[in-house]
Amino acid sequence: MKYQAPKGTFDILPYGADEPWKISSLWRYAEETICKTALEYGYHEIRTPIYEQTELFNRGAGESSDIVMKEMFTFLDKAGRSMSLRPEGTSSVMRAFVENNFAQLGNVHKFFYIAPMFRYDRPQSGRYRQHHQFGVEAVGIASPAQDAEVIDLMYETYRRLGLQNLSIELNSVGDMASRLAYKDALQNYLRPYFQELSEDSQTRFDKNPLRILDSKDLKDREILKNAPSILLSLSNDAKVHFDELRRLLDDVQIPYQINDKIVRGLDYYNKTVFEVAAKTGGAQNALGGGGRYDGLIGSFGGPDLPGVGFGTGIERILQTMEAQKVSYPREARPLVLWLPLGNDARRACFNLATECRHRNIPAEIDLHSKKIQNGLQYASRINAEYCAIIGTEELNKKIVQIKNLASRRQEEISLDQAISYFSDRWTSTKE
Ligand code: AMP
Repeated sequence: MKYQAPKGTFDILPYGADEPWKISSLWRYAEETICKTALEYGYHEIRTPIYEQTELFNRGAGESSDIVMKEMFTFLDKAGRSMSLRPEGTSSVMRAFVENNFAQLGNVHKFFYIAPMFRYDRPQSGRYRQHHQFGVEAVGIASPAQDAEVIDLMYETYRRLGLQNLSIELNSVGDMASRLAYKDALQNYLRPYFQELSEDSQTRFDKNPLRILDSKDLKDREILKNAPSILLSLSNDAKVHFDELRRLLDDVQIPYQINDKIVRGLDYYNKTVFEVAAKTGGAQNALGGGGRYDGLIGSFGGPDLPGVGFGTGIERILQTMEAQKVSYPREARPLVLWLPLGNDARRACFNLATECRHRNIPAEIDLHSKKIQNGLQYASRINAEYCAIIGTEELNKKIVQIKNLASRRQEEISLDQAISYFSDRWTSTKE
């Protein structure tokens, strides 16, 4: 029996990955950059379980959303309760917010997470059954300045990771009153075209006509070209909010375009919604999106606090970094590979390698090679700066041969100076 990673999943490997963006050092670099940025913006890390009661996502993302209707990874636990692997982050964070009584600690809370998400979709390029998202949720502030901060954080994270040619598309889906007015206008416009709409859009016509706006079907898109704009149905409050958000984004020079067809797939959004894509060559790559969800916490039994957030796919970010040839700092390399030749030398090398490590000097030991040549090959594979070789003769003379792998120069030093030799070199590389 040969085992394989489940369909639509992949391994993140130290080396030997089939695509460069699956290398773990890149993931760590991106995750560290993301954490640093989010912390600097005043967001705090939250970690929630990877599965929740199915009902939570039905309520949160909404029963008519694609991720709940078509893509949820649902199973019964041993007690027969329906559970689902988390398809998106916001519902879980809001559940945790209410359950842990965060509102008692104050009205404003800003969270971030980097976490795996699960969607049982047909796997295809850039779409996985397990993917990872960086997301933030800012709770408690209804002002458009909070929306602008969230959009700026998303954009700044991409910028720090070296991404270019990004487009931010911005829209407002208004409040409940705006959406009800717009729903009628849109249905009236679409009614004569009903038979020509795709099957999905026909199903949505009564249940959730706004979702027709982000249909990918070409015929639907053609029909939608002349549809009335949701921006014309905004209530005064929603319009003032949207105008102020635009002014704030203009002030801090965040480039964006208005796209009145963006609604986002989930039911909980109101007012601001946005999506960011990267253009690489001719291709568009959806990096992430988000929006405001003012009624959501209340619908989970919590206080009526507003919220706004985003989710962005880490895979998409890394694929875009690769496509745009962004360089990133390589892993710290070992300073020295200790190479013992013979049993007695092994003990000496083990002691020296351990002492290096206890002094925070990155050191490796080659417990496999029997010949200098093989040891040197290993040293260059792991990208060590020096190879320190001890054989029987060196032991007798109490010396160690040190080879600099870049210059190929070799020198002989006494065993009792070996640690200070590497500690000096390690300190100077850090300065
Ligand atoms: P969504 O909330 O569906 O827009 O997802 C937010 C972001 O997560 C998207 O813009 C993608 O970057 C990423 N994403 C969503 N679904 C997948 C998937 N199946 N595979 C990889 N990335 C995904």
